[in-house]
Amino acid sequence: MISESVTRLVDEFAKLPGIGKKSAERLAYHVLRVAKSEALGLADAIRDVKENVRHCRTCFNLAEGEQCEICSDSRRDPALLCVVEQPRDLLALEQSGRYRGLYHVLLGRLAPLEGTGPEQLTIDALVERVRAGGVREVIMATNPTLEGDGTALYISNQLADLPVEVTRLARGITSGSVLEFANKEILADALVGRQKF
Ligand SMILES: [Zn+2]
Repeated sequence: MISESVTRLVDEFAKLPGIGKKSAERLAYHVLRVAKSEALGLADAIRDVKENVRHCRTCFNLAEGEQCEICSDSRRDPALLCVVEQPRDLLALEQSGRYRGLYHVLLGRLAPLEGTGPEQLTIDALVERVRAGGVREVIMATNPTLEGDGTALYISNQLADLPVEVTRLARGITSGSVLEFANKEILADALVGRQKF
């Protein structure tokens, strides 16, 4: 029987997505083997993220303060809002280097079978942002999956009565593929070639 502390570490690693029992044990033994400073660096990074990172109060991107870096950047065009499912999708679009507007992060997608309805997402806040004025175009950049498309359709209906143009990314991204894995060039093309919803 290994020590109680080691067992606990293995159990914690095993809770991570994609980590089975064997991998959890390998990671735990890795932690035991490396220098104390290196292992504590990991512990500190986890603590920092949980204590300092929250959601931007405007767009729900990850932020270290009240507002994220993108919302705080006055060089960006506030008349353009790009709607994404998760902060990692925002990151993928940022890396395409082609987008200069702001974002709205839904923190998920509508998934009726899993019980995820509109109230679990940030759709109301998005509608309020648009209603407040100053937004010319809302670009739907949800993933090209059944649920992503359904989410985009639902939102476009919510925005139908407001004086804003709703567009969606061009279908350069293969249907079913996920935004965060699409390459920069494809994402840049999808942005430039966006179409009326
Ligand atoms: Zn923000």
